[in-house]
Amino acid sequence: MNSASLPSTRVTPASATARRWKPSPFMCGAAALHAGAAAALVAQPHAWPWAAGSVVASHLALTAAGLWPRSALLGPNWTRLPEHAGQRIALTIDDGPDPEVTPHVLDLLDRFDARATFFCIGELAQRYPHLVEAIVARGHAVENHSQRHRHTFSLSGPLVMKREIEAAQRTLSEIAGMPPRFFRAPAGLRNPFLEPVLCGLGLHLASWTRRGFDTCAKDAGAVAYRLLDGLAARDIVLVHDGHAARDARGKPLVLEVLPPLMRAAAERELQWTTLRACLDGESGQP
Ligand SMILES: [Zn+2]
Repeated sequence: MNSASLPSTRVTPASATARRWKPSPFMCGAAALHAGAAAALVAQPHAWPWAAGSVVASHLALTAAGLWPRSALLGPNWTRLPEHAGQRIALTIDDGPDPEVTPHVLDLLDRFDARATFFCIGELAQRYPHLVEAIVARGHAVENHSQRHRHTFSLSGPLVMKREIEAAQRTLSEIAGMPPRFFRAPAGLRNPFLEPVLCGLGLHLASWTRRGFDTCAKDAGAVAYRLLDGLAARDIVLVHDGHAARDARGKPLVLEVLPPLMRAAAERELQWTTLRACLDGESGQP
């Protein structure tokens, strides 16, 4: 951990109320399989190939579950808004703040009177605190997308994961003036250690219903198609203000995609809300 990347002023870890961790049925099954394999080895040592094979298979299954961003096998995961959200949908914007893109995204959201959830990277928030302040001042929610957005995040153990998430929690709480309540893993990838860490910090894991791959797409049309095709109530939509891909003219794709997305939502009589508004069972404001 690079201490230079951590916030200089320590504030309360700014977590919401810690949640009690309860292993998912899938995790319980994996644990039972390990216990069964150990017992079989004691009773029948010659059966070791079967015991070893079943343990390896369970590890592969756990790894696969962590590499599937929308999976709930390792613990609760918001892939859609809860039922009480009704006709609302959530726009989530990852990997910022970005000095070139975020101000334009905020202007577009103002134009359509839409509220969004920004999953910010702690290091970038430290670099551009005024952008985080602007996000909050204009009525949007700021949530935790880790301190450094390392692509090795899902290979980390529980202590490294906790440090990374807690550092972002402090950074973002300090700047935004309120603690994040949701966490999204870098690239959506995780492992079985994540959920207990999130429970301890009072955070909820959120992934998405649909995403446009707007960090790697070549044109806005393809991104818009992925987002609009089947767009429906309670969807969680993912786009990026950081790491935004650009079209041939150099324009960030997200800025081209947001207007048709906003119009499509209006045509389908869907209202934008934030994740935390739905967590509280409120109706609209973050
Ligand atoms: Zn990201």
